[in-house]
Amino acid sequence: MRETRLTVPASEQLGEGLVAVREGSEIDLDVRIESVHEGVLVSAEVDAVAEGECGRCLIDIALPVEVEFQELFAYNSGEAFEYEVQDDHVDLESLIRDAVVLALPFQPVCRPDCPGLDPETGLRLADHPELVTPEQRDPRWAALAGFQASGDDGSDVASDTDPQRD
Ligand SMILES: [Zn+2]
Repeated sequence: MRETRLTVPASEQLGEGLVAVREGSEIDLDVRIESVHEGVLVSAEVDAVAEGECGRCLIDIALPVEVEFQELFAYNSGEAFEYEVQDDHVDLESLIRDAVVLALPFQPVCRPDCPGLDPETGLRLADHPELVTPEQRDPRWAALAGFQASGDDGSDVASDTDPQRD
């Protein structure tokens, strides 16, 4: 068994979404290579940083990406293995790329409770707490707002409320 640590630059951008690991940014690898009967078993921990925008408030963010994978590289056996040892080497590039891309969040946020942008002014609500209405601060208030609109003045403004409720 052999263990090694490597830092390599991303050979291309990894990911197409709101955040991606940029080409040239550093990828840290903790790799364990074990000899097994059929070939070489590779276990790797990948650490990288994805950069991009918060999906709610659009500020620049950098998110750590930590992912692991394990793959068997077979000796050239003539059988159909997906990965093979070639010239005493194992090529981890496609495995690293797939592992990182799958680990990227679809809806990255700068923080879990990011309140997003104010719908009227476009300002970032986290920077302007005075713009945060009770409805935005606590989504449970949004449901209550509908009841108040229909109950207080009897108008049909809240057309989405159940007419049989009264
Ligand atoms: Zn945000």
